[in-house]
Amino acid sequence: MSMLIELNNVSKAFRKTDGAPRTVLEGVNFVLAQGEIVALLGKSGSGKSTLLRIIAGLVAADSGTAAYNGRPINGPARGIAMVFQSFALFPWLTVQQNVELGLEAQGMAPAERRARAEAMLELIGLAGFGGALPRELSGGMRQRVGIARALATQPDVLLMDEAFSALDVLTGETLRDDILELWGEKRIPTRGILIVSHNIEEAVMMSDRIIILSSDPGRIRDEVRIDLPRPRNADSPEVRALVDHV
Ligand code: ADP
Ligand code: MG
Repeated sequence: MSMLIELNNVSKAFRKTDGAPRTVLEGVNFVLAQGEIVALLGKSGSGKSTLLRIIAGLVAADSGTAAYNGRPINGPARGIAMVFQSFALFPWLTVQQNVELGLEAQGMAPAERRARAEAMLELIGLAGFGGALPRELSGGMRQRVGIARALATQPDVLLMDEAFSALDVLTGETLRDDILELWGEKRIPTRGILIVSHNIEEAVMMSDRIIILSSDPGRIRDEVRIDLPRPRNADSPEVRALVDHV
């Protein structure tokens, strides 16, 4: 099977304020295969975001290797896009401009950019909101903009860092189901999704495989396969049993 992402023996330490190193990730081995949704679960501070940032090319590992499509990751790669918990929208730019940003960086012509952004906003349920400013939108709609911005680059790999955590439960669940529907119906070209969460139910509902990170240092402690067809019913005995088991 071809591996989209492959981490081998990745370690990372940060310096604490007193200058002493603190190991955040230790000896992490991880793969994201084509066609998979994987969830990374762990307590706050266990290194989940750091792992995602290493894959996104925003942070370099101290040792070990990280590869995308078999090539070393040494900076942000075209083909990998990320959605952030805090949405990370530019407040002074319109929704349309926010979605176009990554495309501009890729050198796409203005007319094509505009069309692509409009198509993405429509796909994610924000048709007609291109001229709005982020502050005029609800939290759920803002995160839809963040997702449209990520999807606009037609990513091969989508990274979602606690993408639903800042939203109220119902809004988060709706957005989660919408993404699973786009994925299930192959309306996005994405071949693999890695979500980070501290919500067990979210991980069980979304993923094919759950990886559990321990804290201090972050190591892979366990892995659970979720062999249930999607869409899944959160109230079904199978899902409840897995939520209790993980
Ligand atoms: P999680 O996403 O699981 O909550 P993080 O990966 O964000 O965990 O952080 C793990 C640990 O690494 C935390 O203690 C955090 O303070 C520390 N850390 C993360 N990024 C940096 C950084 N750039 N500089 C110093 N410490 C950091
Ligand atoms: Mg985090």
